[in-house]
Amino acid sequence: MDTPLEVLHRVFGYDSFRPGQQEIIETVVAGGDALVLMPTGGGKSLCYQIPALVRPGVGVVVSPLIALMQDQVDALTALGVRAGFLNSTQDFGERQEVEAAFLAGDLDLLYLAPERLRVDSTIRLLEKGEIALFAIDEAHCVSQWGHDFRPDYLMLSGLHERWPNVPRIALTATATPETHQEISSRLGLDAARHFVASFDRPNIQYRISPKSEPKRQLLDFIRTEHPDDAGIVYCLSRSSAEKIAEFLSDHGIAAIPYHAGLDARVRALHQARFLREEGLTVVATIAFGMGIDKPDVRFVAHLDLPKSLEGYYQETGRAGRDGLPATAWMAYGLQDVVQHRRMALEGDEAHRRRQALHLDAMLALCETVTCRRVMLLDYFGETGTGPCGNCDTCHNRPDTWDATVPAQKVLSAVYRLAKERGQKFGVGQIVDILLGKKTAKVEQFGHDSLTVFGVGQDLSSAEWHGVVRQLLTRGILAVEPAHGTLVLTDKSGGVLRGHDQVSLRRDLKPRAAGRTMKAK
Ligand code: ADP
Ligand code: ZN
Repeated sequence: MDTPLEVLHRVFGYDSFRPGQQEIIETVVAGGDALVLMPTGGGKSLCYQIPALVRPGVGVVVSPLIALMQDQVDALTALGVRAGFLNSTQDFGERQEVEAAFLAGDLDLLYLAPERLRVDSTIRLLEKGEIALFAIDEAHCVSQWGHDFRPDYLMLSGLHERWPNVPRIALTATATPETHQEISSRLGLDAARHFVASFDRPNIQYRISPKSEPKRQLLDFIRTEHPDDAGIVYCLSRSSAEKIAEFLSDHGIAAIPYHAGLDARVRALHQARFLREEGLTVVATIAFGMGIDKPDVRFVAHLDLPKSLEGYYQETGRAGRDGLPATAWMAYGLQDVVQHRRMALEGDEAHRRRQALHLDAMLALCETVTCRRVMLLDYFGETGTGPCGNCDTCHNRPDTWDATVPAQKVLSAVYRLAKERGQKFGVGQIVDILLGKKTAKVEQFGHDSLTVFGVGQDLSSAEWHGVVRQLLTRGILAVEPAHGTLVLTDKSGGVLRGHDQVSLRRDLKPRAAGRTMKAK
């Protein structure tokens, strides 16, 4: 029998293990269960691939990433590892071929889509062969709290009852302490060894700028810092992915779109180009990147706010997997907050509460005046780390200012409209009223006769938008889902009456914030 280290050299061609790998592999080789929390790029695959090769029998890998199974199997085959997969994309004949190989003992690894386990014939098949281990990839999919819940994952706890002597290894790159607990109890891994690697990605520089002209800001960022580098730009909608890709191409940045609306062939082609070509930027919806192993992605940019810190961490984690400096850049603004607050009001009660908490954590990261990395790591349960020196707030500590009076002006405008006129309006109208602008809409509604008309000429329109954004972030003001109009909350009263102070982050001028970073 080969030792794990021999397999690492001979099959995978690597010199040494990455931190954590050896202990995890030895645990599973010895027949023990393991729960592995390791960031993207940490090297989770080897943690089950090597034990599968060392132990007698087939390593059965449950993975929701059906689209990647073919690639994974091809990559293993190229290394001389005998691998196959079973999922819904195959026809009967293809499945039969894999099943025959499994039964003949001709496989080292078998990848299974979770829904395969719902089919009795799969269980009967597995019972006829020798199983080296069960690997449960993307184990956070078992968590209802998480962002990626797959009901089929709940059945995985049954594996242990049927095969009590087969070791199990569950792996994930996204787990807060709560998700970690949930994975452990739902998969019955409380008695397993838990391996929690640091989630810090020190080579990634985190930066979040206020959004003014997003496309321009993005172009500036790429041109000045990553003109010939590979990168991923994330947006929320397919149409904006298309538009941004075109805009970048028009301005001399090689960029292609990637989203679920594209033909499967085009998608595969764009993915292959991204992997093969140098210096290509993919403008994508979240459909892109799951499991993509391109080590030299130099930047990940977000033009829209991710739904949660888990999502943000996972997406930014696709940068700099080779350990060299990389940038996670995001532009976010008032409209993002409004849009997300509205989206967070969809679905059932539990879903809404979850969404709101996720969003609050995301917004807190955007508005923090302390180190972004400290905050991110803290969220994932790593406390007590010091300021990192490699994020925008560390480089350029933002000022805070006492915004109690401006906050009162905004709240009072919203209050007066509702109280005196029975009206609700969006941000634009409120800001016009505060600035004393006699627009057509202001005149139409006679808003120039309100006592708050023109009381806010000390701040610019952009500054007022910043104030409203931060009030929304803190729940001192809220957005009505149906029309996106502003309404007061139970936190508004304390500020209006002068009981509560409001201290806000002073927005940096977007461009200045970008430039200062060049120093490092
Ligand atoms: P994860 O699944 O944790 O995101 P992967 O298993 O895809 O990470 O590994 C990320 C990259 O690191 C892959 O290219 C992999 O081949 C490489 N890798 C993993 N372990 C080692 C090692 N011990 N030495 C060198 N490269 C490694
Ligand atoms: Zn920092």
